[in-house]
Amino acid sequence: MSSLIHIDNAAPKAKSGRKLKTMLLFPPEWVPTAPYLALPSLTAVLRDNGHEVVQRDINIEMYELFFSDMFLIWVNARMIQQLKALEAKGAGLSDKEIDQKACLEEALAFDVMELAANAEEAKRINRSDDFYEADKLEWALNVFRDVMRYISAAYFPASLVYYPMESNLGYRPGVSKEVLECLDDEQVNVYRDVCRQLVLSSVAKERPDVVGVSIGTKMQMIAGFTFCKMIKEAFPDIHVTVGGNVITRLQEDLAKQEPFFSSVFDSAIMYEGEHALLWLLEALVGDRTWQSLPNLMYREHGHVRINSEIYTEKTTALPLPDFQGLPLDSYFVPTRILPYLATRGCYWGRCTFCDHGQGYFDQYRGKPAQDVVREVKALKDIYQADHFLFADESYPPALFKKVSQLLVEEQVGIKWTTLIRFEETLQDPETWRLAAESGCKTLYYGMESANERVLELMDKHARKSVIENNLREAAKAGIWNHVMAFYGFPGETREEAEETRQFLLDNSTDIHSVELFYFVAYR
Ligand code: SF4
Repeated sequence: MSSLIHIDNAAPKAKSGRKLKTMLLFPPEWVPTAPYLALPSLTAVLRDNGHEVVQRDINIEMYELFFSDMFLIWVNARMIQQLKALEAKGAGLSDKEIDQKACLEEALAFDVMELAANAEEAKRINRSDDFYEADKLEWALNVFRDVMRYISAAYFPASLVYYPMESNLGYRPGVSKEVLECLDDEQVNVYRDVCRQLVLSSVAKERPDVVGVSIGTKMQMIAGFTFCKMIKEAFPDIHVTVGGNVITRLQEDLAKQEPFFSSVFDSAIMYEGEHALLWLLEALVGDRTWQSLPNLMYREHGHVRINSEIYTEKTTALPLPDFQGLPLDSYFVPTRILPYLATRGCYWGRCTFCDHGQGYFDQYRGKPAQDVVREVKALKDIYQADHFLFADESYPPALFKKVSQLLVEEQVGIKWTTLIRFEETLQDPETWRLAAESGCKTLYYGMESANERVLELMDKHARKSVIENNLREAAKAGIWNHVMAFYGFPGETREEAEETRQFLLDNSTDIHSVELFYFVAYR
């Protein structure tokens, strides 16, 4: 049984005070439009405590590499080599090899230099004002897709895609023997080459004492674990640790997979990682006992040990995220966008289909609006950024109103977006006018369904009239409304699903974009 503890920064006292060098890695695949907040949040706490940190967003570095002539020529050579090997086999090819040969021949018919030139132009479009011209952006995204198809042929039968993040190496991401095999699979696992070309040389140069790999989603698992394993093999003295939302969610599976702790990484951090990582560094220099470390899984006497203590961060005591060292101008957007988090967990936390809360032990905590605005101003000044992505699970209505008001009063001058729930307390037109005036440009709403019975089943508790009101008032104020919904919630009838579809059509003047999904049970 886990217990929640609060450890004051002052106790227990560090003994040697020795400082370590940590390299933090953010692995692919993630949308390459802004840095992910995990690394800057961890970095801030470590640097505040005197540790040296190198933070690397390998996700954006990988796309930069993929869309370059250097990598595409290298891929071309890999394909020629594979084709020659297949041709040398003559008539004795298996069905799979026949398919691979056809795939390679089709890809090699492309002019690699033309593809590389287009990829450079596509990157330029994404990073310039041409991004806002729909035709140009569509052309650029299609080029990225062509390049990914080209690279996929060299890793047949892998399918690598550029947005949505759905690359498939033929192994189901998770914690299993199958995934362990994938980590060593030179044919399909493109991340082995990404690791050789981007990570290992950097580790050799920086010589960190610790490498931390932040794995937020399942789509990052294979890349993240591949990096860990290859680093551990090449640099056995480095302590390799993993953390992130998906590691927390998979803790029960991980506990049964001792080989991951002996051959892939040395430890895993669950839940929030800032102080858990700091204290892990202190344990590595002998200033804390391993058994006392909260949020930690590690291997002891041939078994996986899960420490029972859980530490939750005090949001008001955390330092400002530290983005120094990240390539802020490399993302595939024309302007700098910074993520910012005012809350941990979701203030609502009741939707029956939602597993976002599993990344946190203790539910919702938030910062006061004054702190939020003070920190946003500081980030704006330090990084010369005026676009912010408030990455909260769901922005609390009271904070939404207060932050909007303070951003206006203090003339902060930013543009921002966030995720929000439909709420009765947000029906006043003035709320939306103020939000728009404060720079709120787009809001993402998890509507899920327009049928009130289904919404009750989900414990979403939103009335249709409130949904209509919030959308109308936001649209009137000039905010772009992006609505997300899904069909197939258990118990939903065809007519109820149809009601959602009709609602979206009936309110199309106030709904500017839509994402529709199907309900999938993951567990
Ligand atoms: S409001 Fe959003 S984040 Fe919160 S519980 Fe519901 S679906 Fe999950």
